[in-house]
Amino acid sequence: MCGIVAYLGEQPALPILIEGLKRLEYRGYDSAGVALLNGGLKVVKSVGRVSVLEEKLKQTPDLCGTVGIAHTRWATHGSVTELNAHPHSDDQHRFVLVHNGIIENYSTLKKVLEERGRVFETETDTEVLVTLIAELYEGDLEKAVQAAAREVTGAYAIVCCCADEPGVLVAARKGSPLMVGIGADEFVVASDPSAIVAHTSRAFALDDYNVCRIDKTGFRTSTIDNHEVSPKVMELELELEETELGGFDHYMQKEIFEQPRVIRNTLRGRLDHKEGRIVLGGLTEISKELVKARRFILTAQGTALHSAMIGEYLLEDLAKVPAECEYASEFRYRNPIIEENTIVIAVSQSGETADTLSALHEARDRGATSLGVVNVVGSSITRDTDAGVYLRVGPEIGVASTKAFLGQVAVLTMIAIHTGRRRFMSPDECATLLRELDQIPDKIERILQTAEAVKRVTEQHIHKENWLFLGRGYNYPVAMEGALKLKEISYIHAEGMPAAEMKHGPIALINDGMPVVFLANRGRQYDKVLSNIAETRSRGGHVIAVATEGDTHIESVADEVLWVPDCPEPLSPLLTVVPLQLMAYYAAVARGHDVDKPRNLAKSVTVE
Ligand code: GLU
Repeated sequence: MCGIVAYLGEQPALPILIEGLKRLEYRGYDSAGVALLNGGLKVVKSVGRVSVLEEKLKQTPDLCGTVGIAHTRWATHGSVTELNAHPHSDDQHRFVLVHNGIIENYSTLKKVLEERGRVFETETDTEVLVTLIAELYEGDLEKAVQAAAREVTGAYAIVCCCADEPGVLVAARKGSPLMVGIGADEFVVASDPSAIVAHTSRAFALDDYNVCRIDKTGFRTSTIDNHEVSPKVMELELELEETELGGFDHYMQKEIFEQPRVIRNTLRGRLDHKEGRIVLGGLTEISKELVKARRFILTAQGTALHSAMIGEYLLEDLAKVPAECEYASEFRYRNPIIEENTIVIAVSQSGETADTLSALHEARDRGATSLGVVNVVGSSITRDTDAGVYLRVGPEIGVASTKAFLGQVAVLTMIAIHTGRRRFMSPDECATLLRELDQIPDKIERILQTAEAVKRVTEQHIHKENWLFLGRGYNYPVAMEGALKLKEISYIHAEGMPAAEMKHGPIALINDGMPVVFLANRGRQYDKVLSNIAETRSRGGHVIAVATEGDTHIESVADEVLWVPDCPEPLSPLLTVVPLQLMAYYAAVARGHDVDKPRNLAKSVTVE
């Protein structure tokens, strides 16, 4: 969600800032802006894409300087206008600030500042924060930022500069990611490592309630109470090529098609066929807790919620431990009961999802053991949990999540097998599952070879504005995910639900030719799904079935069939979701939408 890039070094800052903003474009935004310090503050902003900002910059003379800050905004407070875009300044134009997040007590602070004579020209919470810093300034920007951070509530990642200290950048964070990249004679601060790796691979993530002051001699990191802290500098593993399109038309397409390779990576070294067990180094810390676990709570939002729902089925089925899954945003605020030996699993691609993070904190404060299933290494969830397993699927740039979903399901499958094996599962039973799991990447590859067929089927229905996705058991969450994908990028209204639920109400929607996608792969409830298909067709619905190769019956009951290879039912979501991802992709392309920049969406939602 939104993006920050800041530069301080020997080179002209502007091209570096613009290139950084472009690398952050995938995160979703509505306006952009940059500020440079060259003997005075210069700010240029625009609504829309970074390319619009670039055009405007060409017409702005005298923009030079080796220190600057830049931002892509995803509006939360105040409409999408040039005035509300960042960077924001105080009313005397001495301070300039970019901000990701929400200042929750901004209206109270605004009143106090107005009483002191400060004037505001935008509707944003961010302008209040920069004004507060200006008000608290006594000749030292770092101290002013620390003082302001002590007064605000909410979430923020900020970078601030001041005309009186032109060679200084001050960054701060609480609840929204921010990294400091350390190059030779230069620093790049960014909300996402993809804007840093072109310059340096040495970086550290700023911790909550920490402030970092940077000038050309070096940096100093402190708490908001001014206690010095030493950050953990690491090597960023991200390769620049991983963030590039490499011959594909869209990141989402690239990420769907690289799933066989990345899932091999997720599984690599973690399946011990000889001993019939799963090896997950990240679980060592909680191995006793896993054996004693009496309940799992899985919590997430969006696509990750759907993988968590599959995790719920997996843990009960394979590990025989009661499990339940809940929206993080609801779990957090409903006074949840956490009994002894409860393990909370937080699932998130970015590891920064604000709702999931606060649910995790709530559960941890109530005594739960916490476990993160996350893609981004070093992100907030990974730092705030007792244990964790990484997805290892590489950076996901497409806003609509695909490979991260598969990675999450693969990891949750391994956690369920691992837990089951530590409790009652025999080595043989485990070994059979591992062999099957090992074959999943090849089977995904086979599904991808049918992409043209999925495209043909999809394109016949793209003018239909309402779709249903239905599944049972393990494939009910897959139906939800299929519907979400279609909504996200093609803007077609779609609902996913348990197939049995359809006849309790939604059946009223089915009319002539309405596309109804059934997850009708082989499994315990196959016959029941066939009955639901019959109910749908007799009301005129157009049935598209995702079915198991070799099923000779399905073609006589469905209008169209998309094929997936056979596998044990608990592993089936890893296959059945793939045609649905392709379907959403081809629908969006055929409807002429920008697949990688869907309207209103942000890649990682770092506000509650
Ligand atoms: N709350 C701020 C605004 O609405 C920051 C939004 C963002 O994170 O981009 O301008």
